Amino acid sequence: MAGTWDVIIVGGGPAGSAAALRVKQLRPQARVLLLDRADFPRDKACGDGIAAHGVDELALLGVPGLVADYRPIQRLAVISPGGARVAATAARPNHVVPRKVFDARLVRAAEERGVHLTRHPVRALSAHDGHVTVDGRFTARVVIAADGANSTVRRLIGAAATPERHTAIAVRGYADVPEDDDVQLIAMQRDGWPAYTWSFPVGDGTANIGFGMLLPRLRATGRPGRQVLHGRLAELLPHLRARDLRAHHLPLSPGRPVPGAGRVLLAGDAASLINPLTGEGIYYALLSGRLAGEAAVQAAADPLPAYRRALRAALGRHLLTTDVLARLAQFPGFIDAAIDVAARRSEVFDLLVEVGLGAGTVPPPLARAVATRWFLNARRTRRR
Ligand SMILES: Cc1cc2nc3c(=O)[nH]c(=O)nc-3n(C[C@H](O)[C@H](O)[C@H](O)COP(=O)(O)OP(=O)(O)OC[C@H]3O[C@@H](n4cnc5c(N)ncnc54)[C@H](O)[C@@H]3O)c2cc1C
Repeated sequence: MAGTWDVIIVGGGPAGSAAALRVKQLRPQARVLLLDRADFPRDKACGDGIAAHGVDELALLGVPGLVADYRPIQRLAVISPGGARVAATAARPNHVVPRKVFDARLVRAAEERGVHLTRHPVRALSAHDGHVTVDGRFTARVVIAADGANSTVRRLIGAAATPERHTAIAVRGYADVPEDDDVQLIAMQRDGWPAYTWSFPVGDGTANIGFGMLLPRLRATGRPGRQVLHGRLAELLPHLRARDLRAHHLPLSPGRPVPGAGRVLLAGDAASLINPLTGEGIYYALLSGRLAGEAAVQAAADPLPAYRRALRAALGRHLLTTDVLARLAQFPGFIDAAIDVAARRSEVFDLLVEVGLGAGTVPPPLARAVATRWFLNARRTRRR
């Protein structure tokens, strides 16, 4: 453990493991230290939904079979806040893998590639002579902070926390479902909008179920968070009895900071890379972790500009799209119109999945189709 590390990674979730795997993939002799305050396997509040794009990232990282023993799930049902419904087969399958399993597999794959894993809660950083020292003990040329939604490193480098208006909170649990249940359900809720409940079957007779909403909406209820989240989940999915309930914040991408400072790069939730429309963050964590790992190897003397360029190239247009859509989504009628159009046209459904779970953007004809439907719906409502 003595001496200087090439890269220290803080946090062994998908972002941190992806960074570790990428560094060793590009430079097998690199000395990489992965610090996490938890022992693996560890649980993490999540819907456990891994989008097809996330599986693409696993292939790029050289671990293509990591979730191959879990059932692919292609059927998706979405209900809009006003009750418009679409149930269709997605162009590519998703997977539902409990995070206790998924994250432990990723960390193990990194260790097998020669990454050194140490249990350690990071509390302090100092920069000096082209190096960064963590807690006065571990020194590296580059530090990648993948320490999640409440990132300590993000605070230590002086980056502001995600504003509350761009922060969601969600609870997840597990429930028994029929083994042949193979539909990922997302049911949006007008009450407390933007809010939604989900049921994501794992394929083994259990499903990850949950409920999430924006933090300011939760505060506006004036009731304890636990009471609201647990209560809404039980009320919305009354036929399912949830166990192992666990809640966490989701820092949404419209509140993202500059992704680092000097030799410290922020990835995944630490960089607020969660889709504001769906709460999906695993794909962005894997992607940003991989790009941070690349910058740490290929531009070790000044990694931040290289990392920002790579993030912009991969996600720039997508993030601008979801920034705009998150504003429009404050009007539930907009989402009703989008789901309405998706129910009529399968190519629109596919595009919405790309925007919600991948790096998609909205082509002008789609924007026009949704805007027209929104206008027509509004006119019909006014006439009633
Ligand atoms: C209820 C809920 C449901 C969700 N559902 C989905 C979904 O279905 N699909 C999806 O794609 N996304 C979902 N998300 C988002 C997803 O969980 C995150 O985007 C994803 O976990 C981000 O990965 P990460 O590696 O950045 O952070 P994390 O997975 O949070 O990992 C951070 C790691 O850092 C460690 N750590 C933290 N602080 C320190 C410290 N000071 N020192 C050392 N280690 C530290 C932690 O122990 C942890 O292992 C959901 C989120 C929530 C809350």
